[in-house]
Amino acid sequence: VLTVEGVWKNFHGHHVLRGVDLEVRSHEVVCLIGASGSGKSTLLRCVNLLETVDDGAIFLEKQEITDPRVDVDDVRKRIGTVFQAYNLFPHMNVLANITLAPRQVHGVAKEQAERQAMELLERFGLADRARAYPDQLSGGQQQRVAIVRAMATQPKLLLLDEVTSALDPALVVEVLGVIRELKQAGMTMILTTHEMSFCRDIADTVCFLDGGVLVEKGPPEQIFTAPRHPRTREFLSSVL
Ligand code: ATP
Ligand code: MG
Repeated sequence: VLTVEGVWKNFHGHHVLRGVDLEVRSHEVVCLIGASGSGKSTLLRCVNLLETVDDGAIFLEKQEITDPRVDVDDVRKRIGTVFQAYNLFPHMNVLANITLAPRQVHGVAKEQAERQAMELLERFGLADRARAYPDQLSGGQQQRVAIVRAMATQPKLLLLDEVTSALDPALVVEVLGVIRELKQAGMTMILTTHEMSFCRDIADTVCFLDGGVLVEKGPPEQIFTAPRHPRTREFLSSVL
């Protein structure tokens, strides 16, 4: 689905990504781990074109999306993104939040968009909250709605950046449940997390970033039990 090839990114002369290569296959769940500042969010922001890359290329379904002539809106239609702080529109209820993009960006009729939104809300146990406003929801519910909203445009790829880190531990569980369900449904995802147990549990492939370098990647069993690179070992011993 996605290929990242030799991507470099610098901010004010500081190299934040240094030649990152990454391949994400259809239905694969890739988890990015690494210390704060290692470049995880920046990599996701390059993938959904919130940042331009300085060198290298990114391909989505064989199309080079880092080509300056690419239609950014068209690319974003195919990529769903959820960030740490749930970014629901506070003046719109849940249903309006979810149907906004399908209606305005994809031109789906109101009735159809609402029907599809209700199906998603049912699936994630939120149907009774459809008419609620964001400030009437718990943090966990808001984040689940944010994920449902990202799914409403049927993206080919879902990017989840620290989607549980702003939540109380008790609410984390329900959000993780939603992500697990999406994995079972075959959604292709790249996620970042500081929760190693969750990463181990959900990832098909774990990538360890260190100072903007993707130093090691592999299945979770290998990364967590037999990391090959000394930097990976060092990082894991500091967080586990
Ligand atoms: P965390 O685990 O804390 O979320 P991260 O791995 O996601 O960290 P990034 O947010 O990608 O790290 O940041 C990588 C580096 O790039 C940091 O040093 C950060 O300060 C810097 N950086 C990120 N965005 C910008 C920006 N827009 N302008 C300048 N520097 C930036
Ligand atoms: Mg980050």
